[in-house]
Amino acid sequence: MAAIPFIRESGPKEHPTFHCSACGKCCSHIRGMISDNEQEFLKEYAYGKMPIVQLIPIEKMSFPLWDWEARRMITWAQERGIEHRIMPSRAILDLDSDAAIIVTYSIDSDACTFLASDGKCRIYGEKRAYICRLFPFNKTPFLSTEETPDPKEYFGSCSAMKTVLPHIPQGSKEQISFFAKAFPDGSFHNAVQHDHIIEWVNKTVISLMKERRLRPAMNYPYALLMRRIGDAKAIDFTEFLVESGHSSREERDNLIKAFDANSHAEEKIAQYL
Ligand code: SF4
Ligand code: SF4
Repeated sequence: MAAIPFIRESGPKEHPTFHCSACGKCCSHIRGMISDNEQEFLKEYAYGKMPIVQLIPIEKMSFPLWDWEARRMITWAQERGIEHRIMPSRAILDLDSDAAIIVTYSIDSDACTFLASDGKCRIYGEKRAYICRLFPFNKTPFLSTEETPDPKEYFGSCSAMKTVLPHIPQGSKEQISFFAKAFPDGSFHNAVQHDHIIEWVNKTVISLMKERRLRPAMNYPYALLMRRIGDAKAIDFTEFLVESGHSSREERDNLIKAFDANSHAEEKIAQYL
């Protein structure tokens, strides 16, 4: 997203390769980047039927930021005088501690608040959020439930994909090895790591419930849930892991370092190369 302009045609014998043209479209339209199927799922389950509750309406949803990413971005915004509009977007209401555990944040704006008027990202040199670094991917074969998924389902709308899309093989194993070579910008590795973190969050919520460290409110009327979340003490998900005794502070910090280094993505992709 909002990279330095760089366009190159792939030669006929080269592996098809993606090159971001820095059009800035993915940074200037950050709402509604989910498929119709995902929207249907969220409408049905994400407004009170699952432990993690959606705090904003579907039509206002923009991309998710993990809590440690949001904290960094808020700091960079404060240093640069940017009105960031970052706010909680998904939370768990814990009935035992009466805490609102914030799982993700998002930017409440049509265009990213870090995008400058010249189309450049004002924090491009920083370790930006996964969601900034994984586009044009929306998801990867690692989170696909289909055996022969439609390649287009992995990607958001991006004109630079036209050099790659026609060459994507069928079959998720072949696709993984193809994507590892076709995205030298690292977007595939970032997308795989982001998918890994989604799985990690879901598994960790279940572990916390089994360990009786978390008792999420579910099947409450949505308006009541929102009122209680609004009144509750807010705590970030990764801080709750430490406060609840699930992880030591050092374990939590090391895990975030491993996420930042794409360690899990490297391991997963290596099995297919
Ligand atoms: S839409 Fe595609 S080409 Fe445009 S900035 Fe985003 S990734 Fe790059
Ligand atoms: S932070 Fe930068 S790269 Fe990320 S969406 Fe905003 S402008 Fe784009």
